[in-house]
Amino acid sequence: SPSPSPFRSPSGSSSRRGARMSNVTVCVRFRPLSHKERKANADNVCFRKLDSESFVFKDEREDDVVFSFDKVFYEDAQQSDVYNFLAVPIVSDAINGINGTIITYGQTGAGKTYSMEGPSILHCNEQKTGLVQRVVDELFICLRSSAGTWTVKLSMVEIYLEKVRDLLDLSKDNLQIKESKTQGIYIAGATEISILNSSDALENLSQGIANRAVGETQMNLASSRSHCLYIFSVQHGSTSDERVKMGKIILVDLAGSEKVEKTGAEGRVLDEAKTINKSLSALGNVINALTTGKQNHVPFRDSKLTRILQDALGGNSRAALLCCCSPSPSNAPESLSTLRFGTRTKLIKASPKSIPE
Ligand code: ADP
Repeated sequence: SPSPSPFRSPSGSSSRRGARMSNVTVCVRFRPLSHKERKANADNVCFRKLDSESFVFKDEREDDVVFSFDKVFYEDAQQSDVYNFLAVPIVSDAINGINGTIITYGQTGAGKTYSMEGPSILHCNEQKTGLVQRVVDELFICLRSSAGTWTVKLSMVEIYLEKVRDLLDLSKDNLQIKESKTQGIYIAGATEISILNSSDALENLSQGIANRAVGETQMNLASSRSHCLYIFSVQHGSTSDERVKMGKIILVDLAGSEKVEKTGAEGRVLDEAKTINKSLSALGNVINALTTGKQNHVPFRDSKLTRILQDALGGNSRAALLCCCSPSPSNAPESLSTLRFGTRTKLIKASPKSIPE
């Protein structure tokens, strides 16, 4: 059965206002040890489980630290566990016109794409299906069972070196971000494909993923160096209420958060890495501003990524962060930095006026 929703109080009270300490639900996922890691370190891992929300992090260079999050998914967690906890509430809210965002963060190889797409978006058994397809499936189940009319549109973009590329039309390689009263913040000119059912969605998603690979080969870059965004826009008009509700779900597979020096990059590649880290540090700066009371000066405009995520992090939407970590002691410094990022994000407080009821 699904884990309890992070958006409701344990008593089941419908009052959402008091239920959440943080504006962003923050979870951690430790993937299983890889064969290589197992070979190098036997079965040693960098954490000791306390419960489903906390663990002791062990780093031989530092003292042990206890970390607590809204939920911790250990190696044996299933894709459905992650989906049920993080995404189910976001899907049901989108249908009611509340925007939602799910972000995966972590070093390259930590399990971000696996969590989002599964091992492969097209050829994947039910058990391993990732968040993106589960969101789509649930979206259509909910819409079909509701009275009223609806449309679902898909966009897919990649942010690389501060340029927003359309993954559904590679000729659009420098999209601009705009804001309007009705739409909020949006990517102007991005291809929007109407999707009617799950298999429709899957076909277009896999085209976007294939385009991403083509673009990357042309530019000689690894997918771990760009941010990938899956955007579902849902319009839903219920018969009982003539207002049409518009909700957006954005799933963000971030570029690897590893330190530049570790990648051994030089020249152009090093410049690229620095720019990528810039948008991730812009994200960090936005989070810091949101948590330190400097809410009038949140630097959303410092990067394309933070601008697109402004609505998500700024309050008028539901947001969830999945911090992906390698369990291996050899990656402990990067995992620690990911966990600290998650801890800071958890401190974003929901201002009462920003929580949709
Ligand atoms: P990232 O997107 O963070 O760079 P990936 O998602 O590509 O990392 O994961 C790196 C490798 O680990 C892949 O081979 C992936 O299939 C595997 N992996 C990641 N998470 C899991 C998991 N929860 N269960 C099994 N294999 C996983």
